[in-house]
Amino acid sequence: MKQKEVLDLIKLIDRTYKTDYAGDGDIVRDWFKVLKNYELSDMTKSLNYYMKNYTTYAPKVYDLIRGYSTIDSKKLLENSKTRCLFCGKVISIDDTKHEDRCRSVEFIKRAVKRFKDQDIDAEKYRTMSEEEFNKYYLSAVKLVINNSTNDLEVNMWKNYLKNL
Ligand SMILES: [Zn+2]
Repeated sequence: MKQKEVLDLIKLIDRTYKTDYAGDGDIVRDWFKVLKNYELSDMTKSLNYYMKNYTTYAPKVYDLIRGYSTIDSKKLLENSKTRCLFCGKVISIDDTKHEDRCRSVEFIKRAVKRFKDQDIDAEKYRTMSEEEFNKYYLSAVKLVINNSTNDLEVNMWKNYLKNL
């Protein structure tokens, strides 16, 4: 929040609770020191909630920030998220397991479409257990090996099976 925004908020508190926070330079400074790390929209929401629920005592600055994240920590959280290239879900950047599974589902989907002309229920494959999934993955690999006319591809998958 900007200094002016903090002051407006304090004045609103003064009007509501008959306090004189705005007239106390120390309070204004202290509130700004804390609130500059928070978003105006969050603190407005928080104050509205407080005013609805506590009518006797004016809020302390810590009553307002309770449960809210600072601007910095929000940014950090946002930067650590990405979208899965395959299913579009928002995932954590270090969630390699999720993308591995989605990539493998994509492989099964294409193999089944190509050699059996069938569509699979991708969501079912995304959520099944590792053990069960591996069985389907292996049978898709075998489907490719047994049906593909591309020698390079067939050899690649044969090597894959050898190295399991
Ligand atoms: Zn995904």
